[in-house]
Amino acid sequence: MTAPTIGFIGAGNMATSLIGGMLQQSFKPNQVIASDHNSEQLGRLNRQFGIRTSTDNAQLASECDVLVLAVKPQVLQAVCRELPAQRKPGQLVISIAAGIACSSLAEWLGAATAIVRCMPNTPALRGQGVSGLYASAAVSAEQKLLSEKIMNAVGISLWLDQEAQIDAVTAVSGSGPAYFFYLMEAMTNAGEQLGLPRDIAERLTLFTALGAADMAVHSDVDTAELRRRVCSPNGTTEQAINSFSRDDLPGMVARAMQAAAARSAELS
Ligand code: NAD
Repeated sequence: MTAPTIGFIGAGNMATSLIGGMLQQSFKPNQVIASDHNSEQLGRLNRQFGIRTSTDNAQLASECDVLVLAVKPQVLQAVCRELPAQRKPGQLVISIAAGIACSSLAEWLGAATAIVRCMPNTPALRGQGVSGLYASAAVSAEQKLLSEKIMNAVGISLWLDQEAQIDAVTAVSGSGPAYFFYLMEAMTNAGEQLGLPRDIAERLTLFTALGAADMAVHSDVDTAELRRRVCSPNGTTEQAINSFSRDDLPGMVARAMQAAAARSAELS
C-alpha cells in the first residue's frame, strides 16, 4: 500500500508543530502538503521541512488521503464551503478547530464524509500535548489508527465514545494549561512575598510543577496517594493542604471547569 498523503489547510502554529512532530516519526516530507493564504508562512514551512506547499486549498483537498483542518474556527465554514464536493475517494477529514461539531462539518463537506474531531492543547507546540479524539460513524478502524498516529506526533491522544465529551475535554486539557499557569503565577508571587528573589521563586515553582507532573505520570499510585505521601502529620505540607481545603480548592476547581465546559457547549 502506498503511504497516505496528509494535507494541512491552515499552516499556522498547530499545523507547524504537527508537521514537525510527524516528520520526526515515520512520515516522510513527500507525504505532507500544506496550504495557507499566507505565502511567507508557506515559504518558512517549505524551507524548514522540505514539504510541498500551496495557496490553493481546493487543489490540496482533491489530492490528499487525509485533510487536516487547522484554520481558526471563525473561518472554517468558508474554507469548507470552497472545497470541491468531489474530493479524493475515502478521504478522512481531521478537524482541530475548537467548538465546531461533526454535524456542522458534515453539512459543509457532505454527509458521508469520514470526520475525526480533535481537541488538542497548547503543549502540543512543545510535543507534550494531549488530545481528545472523536470519530464520526463513517471513520474506519484504519483511519482511526492513522488519526492517532498524526496526533501522537505531538503528544498523546485518547478516544472518546461520545462527541459531547469534547466539552469536558476542553474544560480539562484544552483550557487546563492556563489553570496550571495561573497556579504557578500565584505560587511565584507567594514565594516572592515570603522573601525569595522573583526569579528564584519562579524557577522553584516551574521545576516543582514539572517534577510533580513527571512523578505523577510515572507513578503506579494516584495523585491523592502521592499527595498523602508528601504530607507528614503536623508537617509543613499538611498546613498548606489544610488551608487549601478550608478554602474549598476542589469546589473552586469544579466550578471553574463547569464554566469552561458550559462555554464550550454554547460555542458548538
Ligand atoms: P494560527 O492562527 O497559528 O493558524 C491558522 C492559519 O490559518 C494561519 O496561518 C492563517 O494564515 C491560515 N488561514 C486563515 N484563513 C485561511 C484560509 N481561508 N485558507 C487557508 N489558510 C488560512 O492558529 P493555530 O493556533 O494553529 O490554531 C489552529 C486551529 O487549532 C484553530 O482552529 C484552533 O481552535 C485549534 N486549536 C489550537 C490550539 C493551540 O494550542 N494553538 C489548541 C486547541 C485547538
